[in-house]
Amino acid sequence: MKQPDIFKCEKCGDCCKGYGGTFVTEKDIKAIAAYLKTDPERFVEDYCCMSGGRPVLAQKKDGYCIFWDKLCTIHPVKPKMCKQWPFIKNVLIDVNNWQIMAGACRGIRINVSDDIIKECVRKELLKNQ
Ligand code: SF4
Ligand code: SF4
Repeated sequence: MKQPDIFKCEKCGDCCKGYGGTFVTEKDIKAIAAYLKTDPERFVEDYCCMSGGRPVLAQKKDGYCIFWDKLCTIHPVKPKMCKQWPFIKNVLIDVNNWQIMAGACRGIRINVSDDIIKECVRKELLKNQ
């Protein structure tokens, strides 16, 4: 089963609002800064907040990510965390997380066997390493 069979993003933006914060890696920071034609330090100052000593993307007053404007305005270079969703390690640790995540993401299909979910997650994680 291919990835789109168990997940198809509806571009609703619900995952770009609230939650615990979108962490950015060093690689993300460099890529997004280059995309925005700024330097990495400036990018962190202007577009991030610190959470647990690590930079996360800032949010607007309405709770949405600073880069959400009816769509992701940095889509080609969005953080690894955003690219991976919903194919994340926590689903391999406990496949029930898939069903829980589906409660917050309308793109996730739930009438799929646990084995297929795990297989798809494994494949996508390998692709996005
Ligand atoms: S909540 Fe799910 S369907 Fe909506 S934008 Fe995020 S990934 Fe796509
Ligand atoms: S970077 Fe893009 S995909 Fe990630 S939370 Fe912000 S708007 Fe959403």
